[in-house]
Order: sequence, then structure tokens, then C-alpha cells
Amino acid sequence: MSSELIYELSTPGRRCLHYGETEVPAGDVEDYIPADLLREKPAGLAEVSKLDIVRHFTNLSRMNFSVDTHFYPLGSCTMKYNPKINEDMASLEGFAGLHPYQPYSTTQGVLQLMWEMDLLLRELTGMYRFTLQPAAGAQGELLGMMLVRTYHDKKGNHRKKVLVPDSSHGTNPASAVVSGYDVVTIKSNEHGEVDVETLKGAMDEDVAALMMTNPNTLGIFESNVREIQKIVHSYDAVLYYDGANMNALLGIARPGDMGFDIVHLNLHKTFSTPHGGGGPGSGPIGVNEKLAPFLPVPLVVKDGDEYKLDYDLPDSIGKMKNFYGQVGVIVKAYTYIRELGKEGLERAAKASIINANYLLKKLKGFFKFPYSERCMHEFVASASETKEYGATALDIAKGLLDKGFHAPTTYFPLIVEEALMIEPTETETKDTLDDFAKAIEKILEQAKADPESLHKAPTKMPVTRMDEVSAARNLVLRWKLERNTE
Ligand SMILES: *Cc1c(COP(=O)(O)O)cnc(C)c1O
Repeated sequence: MSSELIYELSTPGRRCLHYGETEVPAGDVEDYIPADLLREKPAGLAEVSKLDIVRHFTNLSRMNFSVDTHFYPLGSCTMKYNPKINEDMASLEGFAGLHPYQPYSTTQGVLQLMWEMDLLLRELTGMYRFTLQPAAGAQGELLGMMLVRTYHDKKGNHRKKVLVPDSSHGTNPASAVVSGYDVVTIKSNEHGEVDVETLKGAMDEDVAALMMTNPNTLGIFESNVREIQKIVHSYDAVLYYDGANMNALLGIARPGDMGFDIVHLNLHKTFSTPHGGGGPGSGPIGVNEKLAPFLPVPLVVKDGDEYKLDYDLPDSIGKMKNFYGQVGVIVKAYTYIRELGKEGLERAAKASIINANYLLKKLKGFFKFPYSERCMHEFVASASETKEYGATALDIAKGLLDKGFHAPTTYFPLIVEEALMIEPTETETKDTLDDFAKAIEKILEQAKADPESLHKAPTKMPVTRMDEVSAARNLVLRWKLERNTE
């Protein structure tokens, strides 16, 4: 496997493409482009053949793990199978070839799809109205916090604080801070749930919102959610739902019915569109009636038989993103929802819960489960005991790479020591889960017999164990991969 940089493959004069004679009259480039916009030196691009390029990037892609090549139990990230029909639909010329400024008469299809997506998401979540604009979960959260601020400001309440549980995803406090709020952390109780008494103590007229995840990041359903919503609403604060991973609830329970005022969904997690590696996301926001007037413009509306974009929302916060959202991702997620239907989504939700509980049970002899030995779509194991004989969460994660599995999420949520956060998803078979449990067993045997060898893992990957402290302190931005000679 080639580990050179594309620049190291460069041979002066080598070309991929040969252009014919240009029809533009010959002349100096300065005749066409002002001199102050031109480079002084050529850009220094790699000079390579077509096959050099194809092989280089194909080989690089094969150094990676992906859902299509490996089991990928990365908790909180929902790496489920991405049905290929989603890609076919998004590639249809009628979607892929659209221009955002085309007249309505030529874009009725995509507007209808976005309108129906709004309706489907309302039905799944119990919310009043959605915007499909945000490009990711974190941007949805930011929008949510902007709606919270607008809601309170319109009433003349310039509130200062946002509450987040200590198990929350890092983007929650980040979004609140970026929106100018002070973050107050709410401690979890011994069941890994929001502690109601602590919450009561933290509530006052300065609290703008509580951001919650349910099931929370420990994979536990917040059983006091009804009481929590009463407490939060009694102060006229907003209850925000982080629905990045709504897998376990689809067709079974709805955040709107639990009393949430704002919901964000990650289409790229729950609704099977590819993500990771920077791939495009989509983080629609659903709100109840009291927040709907502030949604960003435009909203897709149905006017008689015609679909349109509505910019006429006097109290709107304005625009969140250029145009209308990541339309390609919306098409893929819409395809997924329509393909599974109501019953299919509910079956997927139940299978995600069964798979996670099955795997939890298989791993019970190996790890501690500090909060619960039951879970929803994911669970958090603690390697605090295996650490004693040489298998930290990091060692186990790295050891799994050598055994052909992507690592679980590690060291998150922060409240679990040596956390391994595992989300098998509904799309894996029992055999895969059994193999994964066996791999963990082997790794722990290796740790007992020869811990030093495990500390070196991975040894079979293009990149072996890194010295993370040096890597962070002494950045080397241009480097060569060590070729694995084993
Ligand atoms: C992934 C995730 C987010 C952030 O979503 P992005 O699309 O990565 O911005 C927020 N909350 C939870 C619980 C998540 O899992």
C-alpha cells in the first residue's frame, strides 16, 4: 500500500489530461487576468498520471474504516448502514442538477419533498413545525439557542443561564456559550439521570433553557422527564431536546408529547445518511407553536396545489444558512423514512434497543456498568477494572482496530471512568455482535498475559500507536506514514 504523499509521486511534466487547441485567442495570461491577481510562482501542484491519482486516492480510502467495510460501534454517532437507494434518489438529475434560484414552476418536486419531510418529522416528533435549514446537529443547537434568546427577549426577559446535564454532548454547552449564555451543569443521580432535586435548586427566573438528551448519552431513558418539564415550564424556561440520536424512540415515543419545546434531529445519524470524514450533515429543528414565529426564513409552504418558499415571517430571526439546507441529505433521509414506513421505523427502533442490550449482556462479565445494566440504543461500559491489569479504554479501543473493528467512543460521557460508549445500531447481525464480544475477550486475555504488547496496539494498521502527548505538543504537519512491514 502506497504511503507517499501525492506530491512525492510528482514527476515534472507528467500529465493527467491533455487539452486540445484552445479556441480562445492565444496571448499572455495578463491580457485576461489583472497582474495583481496572478501568482508569482506556479501553484506547485503534483504532476502525475491518471492512474497515479486513481491508485493514490483509492489506496488511501482503503486505509480507513467505514460502515461498508467494518463494524463501527461508535457511540453517539449512530454509524448504521446507509442504504444505497438513498444515494440513487439524491443523484436523480431532477434533484442533483437543481439551481437554488430556479423559478417555482420548475422546482415543485423538491419543494414538495421538503414540505412532506416537514410533515413526516412533525409526526415522528410531535412538534408543530420544522425548519430543514441547519447543516448539522451543532448548527441546529445554535439555532435552537437563538430561538430561546428571541423568545425571552421578545418578552423583555433577558435571561442569562442555560442548564445542561453533566452527561450532555459537548456541543450542548458549546452552543449555549456561543449564544452568550452562562452554562450551569446539572449533576446526574445514581441512576445516570438528571437529578430532579439538583434541577429544582438550579432553577430561577434567569434560566433561559434546559438542554436534555433522551435517551441520554449514557443510553438511559430519563424517567422523570414529565416532572422535569413541569419544573422547567413553571419558570417559563424552554425545554430543549437534543435528538441527534433518536433511534430508540422512532414510532414509539415523541419528544413533543414529553413536553419539549424545541427538538433537533441529526438526519445523518438517525435517518441513515452517510457522515463522518466531514461528510455533509443536516440538523433540522422542530418547535412548538410558541416558538414557530421565530423560525428562520424561508419556510416551505403549500399554497393550494402549489409549493412555495415563504419569506413573509415578520418575527423570524432571519436566515441560518444559505438557501434551504443540505437538500441532498434531506432527499436521502426522506428516502429512508419512506422506504421503512411507520412500521419499519418502529421495528428499527426496537431492533436498535435489542441489539444494544444483547451486546451489553455479552460484555457484562468483562466491564462495570456504573449506572444501569439495561439500556436503550447504546450503553456505556467502564474499563476501570480491566485498567488494573493493563487494559485501559484506550488500549481496548486500539486493540479492536487490529481485530477488524472500529473502536467505540472512548472517555465520553465524562462522568464514567474509562468509558467505552458502544452503539451497535439495528443494522448489525447477531453474528457480528458475537464476534465483537469475542474480540473484546481476546484483548482482555492479551492484557492479562502480556499488557506491554497491548499498549503497542494497533500494530496492523497503517498508523500504529501514537504518542498522543507529543503529537499534540509538537505538531508535524508534513510527515510520512511508517510503512507497516509486518
Ligand atoms: C452528534 C451529536 C451532536 C452534534 O451533531 P453534529 O451533526 O456532529 O454537529 C449533538 N448531540 C449529540 C447527542 C450527538 O450525538
